[in-house]
Amino acid sequence: MTSPLPLGYIGRFAPSPTGSLHLGSVYTALASFLDARAQGGAWKLRFDDLDTPRNVKGAVGDICRTLEQLGLYWDGEVDYQSQHLDEYEAILADFIAQGRVYCCACSRKNLAPVYDKTCRHAHVSSKTPHSLRLRVDAQDITVQDALHGRITRNVAMQDGDFILKRKDAIIAYQFAVVIDDRRQGVTDVVRGMDLLNETPKQCYLQQCLGFPTPNYLHVPLLVDNHGKKLSKTTFARRVETPQPSATLCQLLHLLGQTPPAALQHATVDEILNWATAHWDIATLSRIHTLSVE
Ligand code: GLU
Repeated sequence: MTSPLPLGYIGRFAPSPTGSLHLGSVYTALASFLDARAQGGAWKLRFDDLDTPRNVKGAVGDICRTLEQLGLYWDGEVDYQSQHLDEYEAILADFIAQGRVYCCACSRKNLAPVYDKTCRHAHVSSKTPHSLRLRVDAQDITVQDALHGRITRNVAMQDGDFILKRKDAIIAYQFAVVIDDRRQGVTDVVRGMDLLNETPKQCYLQQCLGFPTPNYLHVPLLVDNHGKKLSKTTFARRVETPQPSATLCQLLHLLGQTPPAALQHATVDEILNWATAHWDIATLSRIHTLSVE
């Protein structure tokens, strides 16, 4: 049983503070901002900062500054996953009490491509270093994506018993994101295509927890000239915003929108007002990637 979505659109942008925003991440932020504003909705900012070894000092401030320079102002207080550890642990404790999760002591070697469930019946002691895995029952989960249509994945067979808490005691992204979106009342998730195949796991968790499933829109990825996703690991450059209006117009073109040439010289607010009024996901490319220089 899942509960209904709250009334009114609530969107969010959830960067990990692992570095500056590059063009690919600003592209996603803009899509999510415009989708929210076009529907008169709120747009929230949350930092996915649980993977502490990957966090970079100063990244939070840097990301906020870039968003502000582009006029992408968020509603309400900034949220940080690291402030909600007790909430994740409490839900995990319920799962443990219900026998829905088990301790797994396996090393990486046993894991690929889908975990073989060695520890499902092994009763690994909680004193041994372990991760916590969710027992996933055979299930086809169907996700309705605004751009890609219906995506069905058998989570038990294709993902297996996935991890909710890692061996290094870090709460896994899949688990945290579901709880965060629920806490923030998120109704609409707009994010990059790379997370489309992760979404059925998140929907499965929502069903386990009785949470509503948000609406999803996975936008295409920007790739570099080698076909690689722009990301911090491919050393994508920080998006510089000496001319935020020009950056916004470039991003709008990449999003398949058609801002009039005169807007190049308009203020960021004027551009965003135009873009909000004309936001059209039908012109978003359905192909998986868009190449940029
Ligand atoms: N923190 C994730 C990232 O930076 C995004 C998570 C999400 O939008 O669900 O890729």
